[in-house]
Amino acid sequence: MALKVDLRNFLDEKGNVLALTEQASKVFQFITKIISSVSENIEQPLIDVDLKCNTRADGLSCDGSIDATNIAFDMIEWHCDICEASGTISNWQASMWDKQDRTIH
Ligand SMILES: [Zn+2]
Repeated sequence: MALKVDLRNFLDEKGNVLALTEQASKVFQFITKIISSVSENIEQPLIDVDLKCNTRADGLSCDGSIDATNIAFDMIEWHCDICEASGTISNWQASMWDKQDRTIH
């Protein structure tokens, strides 16, 4: 089952992180790591994120790695290289985890 995340759901109107439950906080750390890696390597078709599948929630035993792709404007798709876990992240551009260097473009 795909995990669809809109980054804005974790932020207030000023872009600051809302108070999160422990579980939501784990997911949030997982997706922000993906955003950082993808935005740093935005020219690459497939980014190998330095992240284990089992870090997205408690009780997961899969130790696959996460691959991610910027599939469309403001939309990242990620998947585990072992299990069926996958998801999308939207509305991440211009967030504090967006590492794109705008002085070059
Ligand atoms: Zn997995």
